[in-house]
Amino acid sequence: MTGINKQTIAIALVMMSIFIAAIMITVFSGNAQQKEDRISVVTSFYPIYSAVSRLTQGIDGVEVINLTPSQTGCLHDYQLVPDDIIALTNADALVINGLGMESFLEDSIDLNPDIKVLDTSIGATLLPGIHSHNEHHSEHYDQHEHENQFNEHIWTSPSNHIIQVKNIKDFLVKIDPEHADEYNNNAKNYISEIEDIKNELINTARMLPTKNCIVFHDSLCYFAKEMGFSPIAMLSLGEQSYLSASQLADAASAAKKSSKVLLLYDMQHDAKYNNVADGASYVRILKLDTAVAGKANDADAWINAMRHNLMQLKEAVN
Ligand SMILES: [Zn+2]
Repeated sequence: MTGINKQTIAIALVMMSIFIAAIMITVFSGNAQQKEDRISVVTSFYPIYSAVSRLTQGIDGVEVINLTPSQTGCLHDYQLVPDDIIALTNADALVINGLGMESFLEDSIDLNPDIKVLDTSIGATLLPGIHSHNEHHSEHYDQHEHENQFNEHIWTSPSNHIIQVKNIKDFLVKIDPEHADEYNNNAKNYISEIEDIKNELINTARMLPTKNCIVFHDSLCYFAKEMGFSPIAMLSLGEQSYLSASQLADAASAAKKSSKVLLLYDMQHDAKYNNVADGASYVRILKLDTAVAGKANDADAWINAMRHNLMQLKEAVN
């Protein structure tokens, strides 16, 4: 009786050891396999994150990490935190907007000499910078200001965003050629969605009784241009900046002269200067989403932002 029990226990122990060993082998080799397969792509901020997420959707082994929290917005005064450094050090690739938006990253990229970097602004149609964010800041921003010869908010133009998406697609195909067909397919679908919303936006903008607009934030310059709008005043309302009395007076006189005017606000900021258009007979206030911030892990953030903008245009038409 005890002999049988001892034997049974011994057999059970051996079986259990084999079982545990088998699990450990599976787990560890699985981990090694997973690490080997995984491509880690870091994006600098939200609009780039949503584009890379769309292009990598459904493709195994690609991890997309957004460096800055989804609520950060524009990166003009962003400072790296330790987690950003870790993500950058472990990443295979980094996708940025370019045009000076990510100047905070310049020194940190050196920490990972093997990282492949894509500047998505290559080939985009550029507008001059109006240095809005920087006017009221210290010497750090003076430096930043010189870099921004061009307005960096290119993604707010659907046409430019398509160029960014194509650049990202070519880059992903290059670093992960095995999945070229999937990247091409995702890009094709995404670009056709962008084309659709772009056409709807432009067609709706055509129905407005005026093209004249006051642009309150330089993030909207590209969007305004794509809509065929003519800025009669270009203001620079930022997080910490204010509008001077003379800027407002100039805008007010331009609005009066134009008689019909659209006020374009970036919805990140309060629409609080509507009285500049008091002298105009037709005024519509558009609170536009530049897709620069939103909920975490939203691959459709850019498209949804443009849908919001379409609704704003439609309301202005009515
Ligand atoms: Zn900005």
